[in-house]
Amino acid sequence: MSMFGQVYVKDNKYRIKGDFHRLAQNQPIRNADDGYKLMGVTNPRELTHIHTYGGEAPFFEALSKGKLLATRCDNKNCEYKGSVYQPFRIHCPDCLGKNTIIDMTDIARKTSRVHTFMICQRSGAFNTLDKPIKFINIEFDGVCTILMSYLSIGEPKLGLKVVPIFNTLDPTYTILDLSWVADGTPADQLPQGFTF
Ligand SMILES: [Zn+2]
Repeated sequence: MSMFGQVYVKDNKYRIKGDFHRLAQNQPIRNADDGYKLMGVTNPRELTHIHTYGGEAPFFEALSKGKLLATRCDNKNCEYKGSVYQPFRIHCPDCLGKNTIIDMTDIARKTSRVHTFMICQRSGAFNTLDKPIKFINIEFDGVCTILMSYLSIGEPKLGLKVVPIFNTLDPTYTILDLSWVADGTPADQLPQGFTF
């Protein structure tokens, strides 16, 4: 019996346990034009990637706790000091200084609105979102960037007021733990695992 690969870090080193590559059942490839003679085999393989978030790790940890973090340039020598970035940027693109992490959950609850949107009827491989996927670009007061995310409840339209929801009950620690609903959506309609 194999187990999924597990990773933690201790003394600044990866500690890994379990299987990081797994074999799956292969299948013959046969030629239907020639009496179904054998031509080869499929080779299914499953890999586990170790994906490190680096300086963005606090952002994903916060989503699992129902908080939306942003960053701000506090460098007094930067021409654009005070700029707030959502999505979370570790460094200021203007002065390249390290930004300060700030909690913008309240700003998101009060000022989020749809800048533009796109509805996708089809998706790429490994998609786990319900289709059609309603991708929205969100603007916030006092934030100089626009965030791409997805609307779980409501019909997107320009200027629609939206509020963030977070997968706090069964977090995946990915960007999918953050979603949005039209302002006024009741708590009992949220997708499974999500809270305001
Ligand atoms: Zn700066």
